[in-house]
Amino acid sequence: MAKKSGKAETGLNGKTGYLDPEDWDGFRRAAHQVLDAALDKMQNVREGRVWNPLPDEMKADLLSELPEDGEGFQEVAERITELMPYTAGNTHPRWLGWVHGSGSPGNILAEIGAAAMNANLGGRDHGPIYVEQQVIQWCKHAMGFPEGASGAVVSGTSMATIVALKTAREAHIGVEARAKGVCGARLVGYCSTQTHSCAGRAFDLLGLGSDALRKIPCDDLFRMDTEALRAQIAQDRADGFQPFVVIGTAGTVNMGSIDPLGDLADICAAEGLWFHVDGAFGAAAMLAEEVRERVAPLARADSLAFDFHKWLHVNFDAGCVLIRDHDLHLAAFSHNPDYLAKAERGLSAGPAWPKDYGPELSRGFRALKVWAHIHEHGTRTLGEAVARNCAQAEYLGAKVDADGGLELMAPVALNIVCFRHLAPVDDLNVFNHEIVVRLQESGVAVPSTTRIHGALAIRVNLTNHRTSRADLDLLIDEIHRIAADIQ
Ligand SMILES: *Cc1c(COP(=O)(O)O)cnc(C)c1O
Repeated sequence: MAKKSGKAETGLNGKTGYLDPEDWDGFRRAAHQVLDAALDKMQNVREGRVWNPLPDEMKADLLSELPEDGEGFQEVAERITELMPYTAGNTHPRWLGWVHGSGSPGNILAEIGAAAMNANLGGRDHGPIYVEQQVIQWCKHAMGFPEGASGAVVSGTSMATIVALKTAREAHIGVEARAKGVCGARLVGYCSTQTHSCAGRAFDLLGLGSDALRKIPCDDLFRMDTEALRAQIAQDRADGFQPFVVIGTAGTVNMGSIDPLGDLADICAAEGLWFHVDGAFGAAAMLAEEVRERVAPLARADSLAFDFHKWLHVNFDAGCVLIRDHDLHLAAFSHNPDYLAKAERGLSAGPAWPKDYGPELSRGFRALKVWAHIHEHGTRTLGEAVARNCAQAEYLGAKVDADGGLELMAPVALNIVCFRHLAPVDDLNVFNHEIVVRLQESGVAVPSTTRIHGALAIRVNLTNHRTSRADLDLLIDEIHRIAADIQ
């Protein structure tokens, strides 16, 4: 009908709501300009500062009004290029702070391809769906999960944890909970005092309340104390609660400690509880021959959450959930309104639809960058990067230990080193915090901080395939220099 009103259909050049460029040659030039800037950024990633704070005039520019008239692609290409330097710095070799992956240039290719395909990975029978299936298949294999397991590519471990714990909840009280809610069931779960906050948030979102996640104390290596866990389960049962899940961590966020995963699996089997493992970064150790054994019992989990965007260096964001029992996973999430009916043939056919394995319907093509990344590098090289970081952590730990001015604050379990600078000052916490802030501001290196038994630690996290030992030597030299300045 609209076709008839010739006026509204003046064609591509008529500026009546069409979004494709009129000047394709110009668009191509602008695209190449952005691509070159992106490649320059990646190729020169060792140069310059780690953290480049956004200049004030650019902050002001980002308060501009909602544009009614577009300025065109050339202007936007320049805007994107201008913004590129001002990131946190996690592509730099001396990004040693929070657990961020360092990325890889190959991701640029996948992101371009994904943008052009503009695929919706909710479902239907198209190529990208099979790519995600391939990624899940590979992950099952890499993580020692059985053939019958299921999974999904999600935004990250936080989302993966929600998916896993919802499946665990329904597995325990039945899928009726999807319609009726938990109906007063006093469900409780267990993690350690070192577990990431995403677990408590998942309890909150699932309507269980974060207090229902009991925080079990740790031993002196910061691993969950299994005796305390057993006692708490018994206590909760005696008090009329319904324990349903134990969350173990392979690589805690504070110091990289690894819970006794095999013991936790045994306890869960004996108690009839779901065993979930948070392997956000630590699961990547499954690819590294030298360290695999430390995390290997994660293969016994009922569900596993981990990230591609951390120690596997896929661009943000991309994580994964694996569920041992495919049917339970499907039962917790499948939904079939008429407008999403599947068919034997046509575009509504095809393999399992990802929308039945998590809360999202429309989903981007995150799987492409994961698939491309694994194809490009292979698991051996990705594992070698993990092993090198672990060796660097041991090197740094030993260096700190041998340095009379520094104190190691936790054993090096995997890839994280927590320490502080000693000094005759009133407050070591304030002193070490100041060292870290000055380091970040200097642009030389970016460690972060955490607290260990209340004491502030300089936290060096090595999930960076670009870091060398020389970078770590420079870090320690700078810490001493800044400490001398402050005193
Ligand atoms: C980063 C992290 C998370 C959260 O993962 P996101 O991908 O940021 O959602 C959970 N657990 C651990 C141990 C982490 O390091």
